[in-house]
Amino acid sequence: MTRAVLTLNAGSSSLKVALFGDSDAPLATGHADRIGPEGTLRLSAAGKALPVAMGDLTSHAGALDSVLATFREAFPGLDMAAIGHRVVHGGVTFTGPVVVDDAVLAELDRLSPLAPLHQPHNLAGIHAAMQAFPGVPQVACFDTAFHRAHPWVNDTFALPRRFYDMGVRRYGFHGLSYDYIAGELARTAPHLAAGRVIVAHLGNGASACAMLGGRAVASTMGFSALDGLPMGTRSGQIDPGVLLYLMTEHGMDAAAISDLLYKQSGLLGLSGLSNDMRTLEASTAPEAAQAIDYFVFRIQREIGGLAAALGGIDAVVFCGGIGENSRLIRARVCERLGWMGIEIDHAANAANAPVISSAMARTTVMVLPTNEELVIARAARAAIPTGGQP
Ligand code: ADP
Repeated sequence: MTRAVLTLNAGSSSLKVALFGDSDAPLATGHADRIGPEGTLRLSAAGKALPVAMGDLTSHAGALDSVLATFREAFPGLDMAAIGHRVVHGGVTFTGPVVVDDAVLAELDRLSPLAPLHQPHNLAGIHAAMQAFPGVPQVACFDTAFHRAHPWVNDTFALPRRFYDMGVRRYGFHGLSYDYIAGELARTAPHLAAGRVIVAHLGNGASACAMLGGRAVASTMGFSALDGLPMGTRSGQIDPGVLLYLMTEHGMDAAAISDLLYKQSGLLGLSGLSNDMRTLEASTAPEAAQAIDYFVFRIQREIGGLAAALGGIDAVVFCGGIGENSRLIRARVCERLGWMGIEIDHAANAANAPVISSAMARTTVMVLPTNEELVIARAARAAIPTGGQP
């Protein structure tokens, strides 16, 4: 019998899953996409596709059922000991993972207006898992939690104080990724982990985080996952005056502006071509090159700003799909940061080596694959009531 923990990351029409046994490497991973009439599900174990027990993929609950049916077939005697969930928003209350009960569910539901595009789907995943595994601990792990120690100046906006009190704050996101990187740094480079580190999580969503001694002190993301760096389809930083102008002069309402900022902007909006960095890198269109220029420039600006927040810098870490794989973006970002002691070893960069700074450089530059699922799995394991490893 395999005692296992399952991690779930439920998006609007997707469900990412990972099944862990007693090691840090998952037994199986999977991805349900386009949940609805055209839903798809792919699962794999040990690098091989699993034959999927295809059921109803029109809802998160249906997708989870199909996942579980497949896993039960592939791992006979599977005993689910705990389930971990990625939850985007923990508000000001949740500073770490929490076992879900009715009171927690109510609080997470109350936070939904702060992340309307994500939180309701995360909750749908929790409800589906509670239904499938009554009595098994469900653990919520928050993208905001890692940032709750930001000093006040990095937690507030310059609005009247009542807005801060009602929760209009710079929450910061991608916290599970930053948590993992902080742990890896502490394990592999404790002298750096103890210092001033900027982590750039560059994926479809992108942000950067300033850490001092392994704790977050500032993030480029703020109240929502829209602020800061430009992303695949999100704008990143924008003058709020632009939004007022679009509302008053172009009659755009909240739904239209939300669609603009979340789905039509960023690399896609600038290039008019794609939100995918691989496509932009391969393109000869000048708009693709300009989208990359803007992406790189904003990362450089934010790294400069975060270094100021830290009073200096000892290391930069790249992670996320772009950060881990794009030698071009890493080289471009670093090429104008020599004044910060940043100097790339191009051979190491081309090899996606863990350390890509030159031996003489004052600031270490690293590439560390992030692992949000493992952070969730560890939190879920810790909630198994009988103690011991699954
Ligand atoms: P998400 O935020 O959805 O988890 P990922 O972290 O998987 O996204 O990152 C997706 C991004 O990573 C895409 O823009 C993709 O093009 C980019 N990417 C992945 N591999 C490469 C590569 N070899 N070179 C450049 N970009 C890459």
